[in-house]
Amino acid sequence: MPAPAPEISVVLPVYNEEESLPILHGELMDSLVSMGRSFEIIYVNDHSSDDSLRVLLELKGECPQTVVVQFPCNFGQTPAMAAGFEVSRGKIVLTLDADLQNDPADIPRLVERLEEGWDLVVGWRKKREDGFVLRRLPSKIANGMIAKITGADIHDTGCTLKAYRRELMENLPIYAEQHRFLPALAVASGARIGELVVHHRARRFGESKYGIGRAVRVFLDLFNIKMLATFLRNPLLYFAILALPFGLMASLVFTLRVSGAWAPNAAWFVMALFAQCTAFFVLLGLLAELVIRISGLHHSKSFEPMSMHRNR
Ligand code: UDP
Ligand code: MG
Repeated sequence: MPAPAPEISVVLPVYNEEESLPILHGELMDSLVSMGRSFEIIYVNDHSSDDSLRVLLELKGECPQTVVVQFPCNFGQTPAMAAGFEVSRGKIVLTLDADLQNDPADIPRLVERLEEGWDLVVGWRKKREDGFVLRRLPSKIANGMIAKITGADIHDTGCTLKAYRRELMENLPIYAEQHRFLPALAVASGARIGELVVHHRARRFGESKYGIGRAVRVFLDLFNIKMLATFLRNPLLYFAILALPFGLMASLVFTLRVSGAWAPNAAWFVMALFAQCTAFFVLLGLLAELVIRISGLHHSKSFEPMSMHRNR
């Protein structure tokens, strides 16, 4: 018989963090044991090229609450988090980085806050121990834009330290590179989102896996998500916009031909071509409408937000 599901699951993406892991595991155990609740710690090793896997398997040997997931190649932080969600069983699921920058001592406060009646509690690194130009500044701009564009007014969406109610987590679509958009997606599905100021520490071992290139990807993803969300609600409109110039050209050629201003016989052929393109886009739009309706993608999934109301 499988062991009963723990109350709390902690998910950590790991890529080349061999020095941090033993210290981190000790801190996690102290924090989780102090809560007196059942838990599991899920490390997703994103195909580290250092000794992380060996360290993790040693920790697993010593600690029965440990789960290790090993990726066959380096997929990235968000897929690692998604894989951790997939194997997690707790009613409450927390995520944090494995480089000691997030502090496991914050876990009890996050859980407490979640249980006050939130579906998701997002950590806020108010005093962030990262460089200004490459980290804090792009992050500030990105958070402001995410808030404006998606309506998710959250200070620090990129903070990995978060606590989710399982029901919400299971219904969030999670794409490559986009873990920071989960709060925005959660807002879109009606979730109640709380914030909590958390402790943040400078990286002690190894180095960050990201450069300024990530900022560019985040901005592209932001527009991608916005387009997708709007498109899913109204695909026919988008195809109609594409059809419009062809429709106008067809009408123009028709008018010129009928009025005699441009009267070669080929005009009919040119007009038919434009009209055909117009019909093509409109039909594609109808098809997209049909596909989205059949798949149910235009609704957020079956997630039922908590019925409690509280101020953030
Ligand atoms: N990480 C990962 N796969 C990657 C890159 C990073 O699993 O390809 C993990 C990494 O081990 C850490 C977390 O994601 O636990 C955040 O990475 P990092 O600390 O480099 O990012 P930063 O704190 O600089 O934003
Ligand atoms: Mg880090």
